[in-house]
Amino acid sequence: MKEYYLSVIKFPLLVSSSLFILAIAFFGTALGSYFRLGLSLTETVVYTMLFILLVILVSSWILTLLATHHPIRPKWMLNFSKWMLAFVYYYLARALGSITLQKKESWQESFLNFNNEIVLSQARDISHKNILLLLPHCLQNSECKIRITGDINECALCGKCDIAEIKKMAHKYNVKAAVATGGSLARKLIKDHAPNVIVAVACHRDLTDGVRDAWKVPVYGVLNERPNGPCFDTTVSIKTIEFAIKKFQ
Ligand code: SF4
Repeated sequence: MKEYYLSVIKFPLLVSSSLFILAIAFFGTALGSYFRLGLSLTETVVYTMLFILLVILVSSWILTLLATHHPIRPKWMLNFSKWMLAFVYYYLARALGSITLQKKESWQESFLNFNNEIVLSQARDISHKNILLLLPHCLQNSECKIRITGDINECALCGKCDIAEIKKMAHKYNVKAAVATGGSLARKLIKDHAPNVIVAVACHRDLTDGVRDAWKVPVYGVLNERPNGPCFDTTVSIKTIEFAIKKFQ
């Protein structure tokens, strides 16, 4: 539990620290210039615009933090917060994570957990009729003679990989499940199925890219396990997938 908590707060800590550093840098520079020589008209305009930008960054971050515990309405406000998360705060955390030598996978996992908290807290506002379970092809046993792309119903349920259990679970909960062999197919599957919510399984990098890429759709991310190395005969916690599906049903 403690480890999960730490992996959740790493990302918000990096973003909050980045904003704090930006604020210190801004006020240090602006006040320094003011007390040394006074501000010219151009400097006043520039500092005012930077101040407005800083206020937007901080207030939107507070909104994003609130979104992890409360449904955000109206929808445009939630979408703005999700866009900021995917395309602004993500980069702030990445920059500070690199400077402070944080392991990439560690803050990416925290980003995914943070995003999951937001998706769960907005669950009441999500229409649950159309859930898409999106899986990576590396979950399939490498010796399987059936090539599964798209629909997982082609799986013969031999039980050599987790696809069998996932297929049974998809039938049990009446959820669409599909295997994506790459980002382009994942995008196509999302476009074709137009899901209300996605439960996606992938590695740190693919899942982070996917969550950001599909930022308009709520994506609950589940990390796969890689006992045989990356992209080869991977596994996943079936219980975690089931937990996510139940939350949205
Ligand atoms: S469980 Fe399905 S996908 Fe996995 S090896 Fe067996 S037939 Fe292939």
